[in-house]
Amino acid sequence: MELTVVYDNSATEGFHAGWGFACLVRQGGTTLLFDTGWNGPALLENLQRVGVKPSDIDILIVSHQHWDHIGGLSAILHNSDALEVYVPGAFSPNLKKEIARHAQLIEVTKSRQVCKGVFTTGQLGNHIKEQSLVLQSEDELYIITGCAHPGLGEIIDSAAKMGHITGVLGGLHDFNDMGTLSQLSYIAAGHCTSHKDKIKRKFPDRFAYIYAGYSIDI
Ligand SMILES: [Zn+2]
Ligand SMILES: [Zn+2]
Repeated sequence: MELTVVYDNSATEGFHAGWGFACLVRQGGTTLLFDTGWNGPALLENLQRVGVKPSDIDILIVSHQHWDHIGGLSAILHNSDALEVYVPGAFSPNLKKEIARHAQLIEVTKSRQVCKGVFTTGQLGNHIKEQSLVLQSEDELYIITGCAHPGLGEIIDSAAKMGHITGVLGGLHDFNDMGTLSQLSYIAAGHCTSHKDKIKRKFPDRFAYIYAGYSIDI
């Protein structure tokens, strides 16, 4: 399974940077996009840079309804075919209606399987409802987060019902519970993560700064 960050506040040469997050998950013949950043044209160019056209995307999962995660949504919807879109059930009714005009809309409340080896935690959090992805690669589990508003601790607790969590990639917001992070062997953080440098200092061998263009095989 190959993960590629295609939208982040930072970017490597040849990729656009912008406030927001999006990550591509490719395995076998399935292409899945998690979140869409803010700027649609920049997202499309970053995708093109890694050889992906919007019409190649089979599944889109949107973590939560914040501008920096849904900004590229219409750019994807207007250029895709036969797309399945998974959104938290708490999304605004009008946004859900717009999505359903262009794609097959799947409203998520509880944890469920999305496709082979890919699961959603279900919508978590009391205030801002957010879903995260859980990826199963052989006997390891990885989490991809958007902003982690419900708290990474709650997200890990929910995902850990499936087994031990090996690592996490995404935005970790202001999370800095080093005890919880010490259970992970891989921490790849970017976007809205407030304590990147502190986490890097504490776990130098396990930490990776992410950016548009960052890629890892799990
Ligand atoms: Zn957010
Ligand atoms: Zn965000």
